[in-house]
Amino acid sequence: MAEHLKTGWPRQVERQPEVIDTVSRILSEVEHEGLPAIRRWSVRLDGWDPRSFVVPADEIKAAVVDDELAEQLEFARSQVEGFARAQRATMTDLEVETMPGVVLGHRHLPIAKVGSYSPGGRYPLIASSIMTVTVPKVAGVDTVVAVAPPRDGRGIYGPQLYTMNLAGADVIVCLGGVQAFAALAFGVEDVEPVDLVVGAGNAYVAEAKRQLFGTVGIDLLAGPTEVAVIADESADPRLVAADLLGQAEHGLNSPALLITTSQAFGTAVIAEVERWLTGDWPTVEVAGGAWRDHGTVVVCSSREEVVEVSDSYAPEHLEIQTSQDDWYAEHLRNYGSLFIGPEATVAFSDKSIGTNHVLPTGRAGRYTGGLWVGKFLKTVTYQRLTTEGARTIAPSTAAIADAELMFGHALTARLRME
Ligand code: NAD
Repeated sequence: MAEHLKTGWPRQVERQPEVIDTVSRILSEVEHEGLPAIRRWSVRLDGWDPRSFVVPADEIKAAVVDDELAEQLEFARSQVEGFARAQRATMTDLEVETMPGVVLGHRHLPIAKVGSYSPGGRYPLIASSIMTVTVPKVAGVDTVVAVAPPRDGRGIYGPQLYTMNLAGADVIVCLGGVQAFAALAFGVEDVEPVDLVVGAGNAYVAEAKRQLFGTVGIDLLAGPTEVAVIADESADPRLVAADLLGQAEHGLNSPALLITTSQAFGTAVIAEVERWLTGDWPTVEVAGGAWRDHGTVVVCSSREEVVEVSDSYAPEHLEIQTSQDDWYAEHLRNYGSLFIGPEATVAFSDKSIGTNHVLPTGRAGRYTGGLWVGKFLKTVTYQRLTTEGARTIAPSTAAIADAELMFGHALTARLRME
């Protein structure tokens, strides 16, 4: 039976009524009023009231970064692009003759217009622009509208704007949160509504995507970030503590979880977290607050129980630092992305290793993986028949249609039997 040395991970993802109501109000006002409502909410929430929300070409050109950062951004971009290309190559079209004269197939067609959001409330998440703009371009999306919030009421953070352009954005819009998603879904200025919105963000962003689903497609619900580490006594407690705090740095509502088979190791990690927080941890206020409220340590009696507990949390990021990493990697099922071994820290994939950092939170890892090139492709089917093929299929279709009282359907089938 699992024992908790510390609790705090919110087990139920509660959608707060205030968030639901605010989002619904903003979306409805933008849908009915358009630009004036976008402007009103942008001013109110972000103090941002530009002449145009679409960033002009000269401003994009003027956004530069120093050579070192430019080189590292290009490294990250090329890793993300390379992995997305490799994934795309696995998605082959299919055509199969299932019976003589009956040909079935599927094709992966890119979505035409995508809106890509990069969060920028607490931190300007530059890497998000690489994740959400490079990958749809690899998929063959015609138009990527990249959006990020203003920083300090002054437009998109310079390095973020540079990166959005580097990643291949076709249009760049400066708006934050719900009004950004409303602009993508309903259009803004001369930017037409997109077909799919993607990207991570805070609780308002996640709720906006949930409410917009149907009006546009969404990638997944990627809210406040989460980390879990499965570790045993073979791991370094200081390294594990650092990786827990590293993700807790995202925000005060970012939970961090250790699952271990050793009570002594769990206690050691708790002590190391405190040592970091009272020592030289760079973002004590956020990471410490998140750990205090949402840090969780669970001690399990077997590796099977570890897997059961971990799968029940379905954490966004899941690190394994044990003497049996391969066994765990094989048996775990619910997570957004898995980090195998002590060298594979979450920060690598957050920034530059090449896997996508937009990942499922709030237990969405039970039913979806993260953003990837396949999310920008529609798998559509087709069928082609000869007369012989049609005569083979028609009797079954007609019989089923008759039984469903759909006599028109039955007629169209029987016409092929003549
Ligand atoms: P954000 O860009 O998501 O949100 C900023 C916007 O929120 C602002 O521009 C503002 O318009 C809006 N906002 C703020 N307060 C509001 C209010 N009271 N009502 C309505 N709207 C309001 O940036 P953030 O807030 O820093 O959040 C980023 C989040 O993204 C973090 O929680 C982080 O953990 C998460 N994240 C998740 C993933 C993932 O894949 N799951 C990846 C990266 C980041």
